[in-house]
Order: sequence, then structure tokens, then C-alpha cells
Amino acid sequence: MRTGPIDLHTHSSVSDGTETPAELVAAAAEQGLGAVALTDHDSTAGWAAAAAAVQGTGMMLVPGMELSTRIGWSSVHMLGYLFDPASPSLVRETTRLRDDRMHRAERMVAKIGADYDLSWQDVLDQASEGATLGRPHIADALVAKGYARDRSAAFAGILHWRSGYYEPHEAPSPLVGVRLIREAGGVPVLAHPATHGRDTNVPRDHLIELVEAGLGGVEVGHRENTAAGRERLLELAKKYDLVVTGSSDYHGDGKPNRLAENSTDPAQFARIVEQATGSAPIQG
Ligand code: AMP
Ligand code: FE
Ligand code: FE
Ligand code: ZN
Repeated sequence: MRTGPIDLHTHSSVSDGTETPAELVAAAAEQGLGAVALTDHDSTAGWAAAAAAVQGTGMMLVPGMELSTRIGWSSVHMLGYLFDPASPSLVRETTRLRDDRMHRAERMVAKIGADYDLSWQDVLDQASEGATLGRPHIADALVAKGYARDRSAAFAGILHWRSGYYEPHEAPSPLVGVRLIREAGGVPVLAHPATHGRDTNVPRDHLIELVEAGLGGVEVGHRENTAAGRERLLELAKKYDLVVTGSSDYHGDGKPNRLAENSTDPAQFARIVEQATGSAPIQG
């Protein structure tokens, strides 16, 4: 593997990023990354195009996904790396998730459409065919209609969970998420677990349950993790021998996050590769 930052969390147009998988891989290679993981929400549909694009770049591609899970109404994101994309149980769950996300987006658009000139077609126009639909696509439609300046403004207003337009979507528990990823030979890593001033969005006891079920690591380096939360996570990682990652959560132009603004230590990345049996990194 060439030297250069390792970024284990990015999104393409297969979910809510603004670049195609090939464009994203090209941007990462151009920037001199050593390795990049493609982790679209609830989908592996970008893996093939990303694998083709990495050839000849000298960079490594790490196939992954960010699985939606939830505890009650609070959403918990579980990164999965190097699992078997054909795992029947994981395919079943992600198919259900994408389907439910679409119906949930339709419900939100119906509510918003009662107050604003916004149609379901306006939202579909913002997403690529088969993409995992989410609030970012509704945000893009609101921006196109002039109701918000950018995605962030839309999230702070009409799409905020307290706006009255918010609808939840179905998702498995984080425990089920960890099991699904491990059963598929992958390595589950809890994404941005210390955001919004909370120490962790998973209660401590629940986190220990996740570790017992096979949680492999925690994403400590992430712009939305608080400083106190990071310290807490590092202590937990030490205590339970968890892999510690750092990543950008790049969404192209959809978020201010820049590639490799946070990165993962090569020794930590090596631990992920060692644990994985579902698929292998692709050396371009
Ligand atoms: P959803 O899962 O459909 O509820 O939407 C959450 C997604 O929106 C996450 O994957 C984030 O990447 C994205 N997101 C959340 N807040 C913002 C923001 N302020 N600006 C742009 N994207 C955001
Ligand atoms: Fe996202
Ligand atoms: Fe996330
Ligand atoms: Zn993400």
C-alpha cells in the first residue's frame, strides 16, 4: 500500500454524496490518499464502479457501507468494512432499509408539499437511479426551489427533526447491525459516536453489549465528535481493545467535510483488514 492518509468513511451518489463512485475514487487518488473506503448508506451498489476506478491509481480501495440502525428514535450509524456483499441476511436488511427510507422520504415530502411547492418528482430529480434516499435529497430539492440556501440550511430548518415535517424510518438495532456485519465476515465500527455534545449516542451498557456481540471499533476522529466524547471513546477503546479510526465522512459538495480531514493510523487499519473475512481491499 502506498503511503498517504487512510480515509475510511466517504459517500458517493449511490447514497447522499454528490460525486459518482468513480469521481470520488479519482478525487481521493488525486489528493494522494493511501486508502479510501466507500461507505454509502445501506448500499454496496457503488463497489464495482469504485473498484474499476481504483485500478492503476496506486491507491487502495476498502469496500464498506454505513448501515442505518436506531435505538428508539435516535439514529445510530454502523460502519461495516470488508464484508461479503452477497450475504443474504445483510442484503435482505439493506433492501428493506432502502425501501423504507423511500417511503419515509415520500411521507416527509407529502407533509412539506402541503406548505411548500415541492413534489416527489422534484426529490427524485435530485437522486441518481436506485440511490439510498434520504433527507439530503429532499434538501437538494428545497435548494433547487429556492427554499434553502444549501443542505445545511435545509437541515437546520424544514428538515430538522423538530420541524414538524420529520418522519422516522425503520432500522434494526445496533446490536443486530453488528451481528449482520460480522456474520457477513465484515468488521463493524461505530460511526461518529460522540456528536452533539453527548458523550456517546449509545448508552455505555449498550456499548458493552455491542462489544460482546463483535463490535470491532469506534470512529474517534470525526469532525462532529466532541473533544470530551473523543477522550471517553479512547478510554473505552483501550479498555475493550477496539480499533480506533478517524475519517472525513466526505459527501462531495453535500457537506463541508473534506477528504482526509481526519484519517486512520495504518496500524489500526491493519487490524481491520486482519479481522475481515468477507472481502479483501482492492489495491489499485
Ligand atoms: P437521514 O438519514 O435521511 O435522516 O439523513 C441524514 C443524513 O443527512 C446523514 O447521512 C448526513 O450525512 C446528512 N446530513 C445531516 N446533517 C446535514 C447537514 N447539516 N448538511 C448536509 N448533510 C447533512
Ligand atoms: Fe450521509
Ligand atoms: Fe453517519
Ligand atoms: Zn456517513
